[in-house]
Amino acid sequence: MEKKRIWLSLAEMGGEEQRFIQEAFDTNWVVPLGPNVNGFEADLESYLQIEGKRVVALSAGTAALHLGLVMLGVGRGDEVICQSFTFSASANPIVYQGASPIFVDSEPDTWNMDPKALEAAIKDRIAKTGRKPKAIIPVHLYGMPAKMDEIMAIAQKYDIPVLEDAAEAIGSTYKGRRCGSFGAYGALSFNGNKMITTSGGGALVCPDGVAAKWVMFYATQARDEAPHYQHSHIGYNYRMSNICAGIGRGQMLVLEHHIAKRKQNHRRYMELLADVKGISVLDNPSSDFDSNFWLTCIVVDPDEAGFSREEVRLALEAENIESRPLWKPMHLQPVFSQCPFYGDGTSEALFNDGLCLPSGSLLEEEDLERVCRVIKGLPH
Ligand SMILES: *Cc1c(COP(=O)(O)O)cnc(C)c1O
Repeated sequence: MEKKRIWLSLAEMGGEEQRFIQEAFDTNWVVPLGPNVNGFEADLESYLQIEGKRVVALSAGTAALHLGLVMLGVGRGDEVICQSFTFSASANPIVYQGASPIFVDSEPDTWNMDPKALEAAIKDRIAKTGRKPKAIIPVHLYGMPAKMDEIMAIAQKYDIPVLEDAAEAIGSTYKGRRCGSFGAYGALSFNGNKMITTSGGGALVCPDGVAAKWVMFYATQARDEAPHYQHSHIGYNYRMSNICAGIGRGQMLVLEHHIAKRKQNHRRYMELLADVKGISVLDNPSSDFDSNFWLTCIVVDPDEAGFSREEVRLALEAENIESRPLWKPMHLQPVFSQCPFYGDGTSEALFNDGLCLPSGSLLEEEDLERVCRVIKGLPH
């Protein structure tokens, strides 16, 4: 008999989602906007502990990043600095705005934007173009907070706003502060495989109520106030629906449970793989960092381990276990091959040797042990 499939990361419903959706049906709010959208935004605002900041629920994390760039005035001819080691959705919205991505490498502690490479990039772009980059997009990859003190200090020194990609990092904290709350704007994702899901959705953390009103305006086709349809700006259809927000409200009730479960997965992998030569598990570099451990990631040193990352992946797949190489850096993607890159090869090495292990909140102890047995059984 085929062994049970172990997935990389599956959505898990808490049970209350249907109640919020039913309420929407019962009150005939099966349209964009409505009480669940307001409720979900209020839930996120209190969860993120963002005094004065506001959250706008949107149709996707990608939409949140796009509207963040719109709000920062990014347009044709501008340059935007983006972490290279990420999912393409961090960078694509730069191109939607007619601007050019400038990619910056990662540092080895968090695998996120290297502050030194960031500053080198800013200086070089100013020298080459005579203009400052218009925005900086750091990412908290796999839930691990980026070195935000260093990044924000450089951003402030050059007076460049930060758009934080916290799509994978809801619930992660850096020096006690929740990811998504550091930048001028912060993007969250509630796609199917993220920490919590609305089936598809995202949110933009905005600096204040005025900015949030503008984001809502752009997200609902930019209709001017008039009895007829009147437009003075280009709009988007990016608002979250009241049905999706109902799922989100239910998911907020189990968010802490999901985080605890994924942190526990990470702790167990650390324990079970501790004595495997040539394998290291990404961990919080110090007590300043508290990752939600959305995905547990390993790096395989083939010389020390006696096997490669790809051999681990194939051995797991042969046992019906899903795993996935780490994100392929954007500066190595064919579509971005013309974009400038500043770095020393850290993210490329991570891509070559890194692997995401099954990390969902539904993962059971016996699943986890099965994964580690396969890895430990590889010939050295
Ligand atoms: C998932 C993800 C996004 C995009 O979010 P969607 O809701 O899927 O549009 C952006 N950035 C990162 C790092 C992501 O993982």
